[in-house]
Amino acid sequence: MHHSPPDDCRRDITGPGLARRHFNALAGGLWLGAAPRARSADPRAQPGTAAEAGGAGRWSNWSGLQHCAPQQWQGPADENELAALLTGAPGPLRFVGAGHSFSPLVPTSGTLVVMDGFSGVRRHDAATQRVTVGAGMRIAALALQLEELGLALPNQGDIDVQSLAGSYATGTHGTGASLPALHAQVRALRLITPAGQLLEASRERRPELFDAARVSLGTLGALTEVELEVQPRFYLRRRVWTAPTEELLEAAPRLATAHRHFELFVLPHTGWSAGIVHDEVPAQPPHRAGSDDERLLTDLRRLRTLLGPWPALRRWMAGRLIGGREEVSVDLSWRLLSNIRDTRFNESEYHVPAEQGIACLREVLAVLERHNEAYFPIEFRHVAADDAWLSPFYQRASCCIAVHAAANEPYAYLLKEVGPVFRRHEGRPHWGKLHDMEPGELAELYPRWRDFLALRRELDPGGRLLNEHLGRLFGEPANG
Ligand SMILES: Cc1cc2nc3c(=O)[nH]c(=O)nc-3n(C[C@H](O)[C@H](O)[C@H](O)COP(=O)(O)OP(=O)(O)OC[C@H]3O[C@@H](n4cnc5c(N)ncnc54)[C@H](O)[C@@H]3O)c2cc1C
Repeated sequence: MHHSPPDDCRRDITGPGLARRHFNALAGGLWLGAAPRARSADPRAQPGTAAEAGGAGRWSNWSGLQHCAPQQWQGPADENELAALLTGAPGPLRFVGAGHSFSPLVPTSGTLVVMDGFSGVRRHDAATQRVTVGAGMRIAALALQLEELGLALPNQGDIDVQSLAGSYATGTHGTGASLPALHAQVRALRLITPAGQLLEASRERRPELFDAARVSLGTLGALTEVELEVQPRFYLRRRVWTAPTEELLEAAPRLATAHRHFELFVLPHTGWSAGIVHDEVPAQPPHRAGSDDERLLTDLRRLRTLLGPWPALRRWMAGRLIGGREEVSVDLSWRLLSNIRDTRFNESEYHVPAEQGIACLREVLAVLERHNEAYFPIEFRHVAADDAWLSPFYQRASCCIAVHAAANEPYAYLLKEVGPVFRRHEGRPHWGKLHDMEPGELAELYPRWRDFLALRRELDPGGRLLNEHLGRLFGEPANG
């Protein structure tokens, strides 16, 4: 079936109600967490991929940085159609979920395969807490259905509009020192290979494929279905507060072990940071702190524009805007953990060994504070280790450090100047975010790198799933 490019990739794919969520704000307007969700919104109304037509069948990602004009857009409705495409459609074939990756994983001049047709909860077993789900399903849509079943995902990232398969393919994560990345919830998967073959994998059945395919950058085949381990529905209490950066950096290791979720937003050129903790609480009526749409980000940008040349004045003024705020909210886990990010940006994120996290964060802050143009918060999170071969958390508890630049502003310094800091700390890049790692470096960082490449070659000897970026990353020709 030929799939028409959707009209508008900029639309939030969970529907118009949820799309109105805001950056959270304290009284001064801080970029910290979720505003209350619109209760009437129904994330199951998925208007399609976040890919953009952009006119004449062009696609672009969420930030607008990555583009392509594929020869074909395809939206297979079932595994048979998908298998036929994989063997017959012009390459390179690239799968797309919500188009929320910053790195050029998706662009293709060949066939863009929109995976929205593989969605919905197909089976669930409340006793074993397992659900079987179409792999193209959006996280928010699944979270809502799980809520209705009395279940919940153990963790989520900063947003929830991504597809499950897209999230797993890039090692998407939330925060929590004892909580692994999202793909660690997968117990079994179904994959259609570039030869059109259906393979099923789990720890018991094809364990090597299972370890490779959970984080695959979409290069082993198309994920069509996953079985996930979930947990009973639970409530969280969130506390957000601002404090001097030095105070929070010192408290961070303790906060990370004391709370189910801990994250830090360090605000460059201000001397202030925001801590966010979430902890499980008994079921109770939701209570949400008041919110203000993206005001802090606007304030920080204004401060940069007006006072950038006078760093001391900028810092003093920022302190007056930011200092000493606190808010508390309580709600169902999924309603608190993810946010809407209305302001478009580009982002780079690396994952460093947990024990090096704060030292690395200090160096990243120092680099950004050499740039008067920097104003986005640095995001600092914890993720537990897992065992997927290309997981950035492979056998390594990690701290994740993310740096951003507005979508319409230069970002090269994030790679050229912050990148070397991450490299010094053995950072592994987030596959879906901007990085400039070379194959030789990646082989050093990933103990199973060569095993993954061998399996990839076996499943896709012709490189039909390799675009230019992936060919370069794997040191392989991309011939489609
Ligand atoms: C505003 C924003 C906030 C973010 N927050 C976080 C965060 O908190 N934590 C975090 O870790 N990341 C975060 N990310 C990154 C994001 O989670 C990842 O880039 C994720 O991959 C996006 O999912 P997607 O559905 O958009 O995938 P896409 O970008 O569409 O695709 C990603 C990869 O998955 C492959 N793929 C998609 N579907 C399939 C399939 N069915 N089978 C096989 N391969 C497939 C694609 O080919 C591609 O290689 C954020 C991104 C944005 C824009």
